[in-house]
Amino acid sequence: MQNSPSFFDEGIKLISFCPLCQAKQEKMAVNILEKNETARLVHLECQSCNTAILALVMVSAAGLNSLGMITDLSADEVLKFKDIESLEADDLLDFYQMQKKNKFWLSELLNEPVGERA
Ligand SMILES: [Zn+2]
Repeated sequence: MQNSPSFFDEGIKLISFCPLCQAKQEKMAVNILEKNETARLVHLECQSCNTAILALVMVSAAGLNSLGMITDLSADEVLKFKDIESLEADDLLDFYQMQKKNKFWLSELLNEPVGERA
C-alpha cells in the first residue's frame, strides 16, 4: 500500500455518498479538513438533504480504512471545534477502534451492500 494522494482520493470517493438520501458522489460537497501521512479528516455534505458526515480515511497495514459519523457541524464548525479541542482526531480514532471489526459500517447504515456496485 502506498500513501499517494490518489490512494486517499479513491478512499474518499468510496465514502462520498449520502447514507440518508442515497445521493451520489456528485451531490456531495467534499472538504478535506486535515491531512497527514496516514489519514485524512474529511467533511462531506449532501447537497440534496444537507446531511453532513465527518469521516476519517486511514491507511493501515491492512489497507485503506474509513469511518464516519453523521454530524450536524459544518466544515467550518468542525475546524473551529477541533481547534478548541472538543473534537480531535483521537475522538475519531476511538470511534474507529470501536468500529474496527465492522468494516462496512456505512453499508450497514444503508442496509445494503456498497462494495459490490463497481
Ligand atoms: Zn442526502
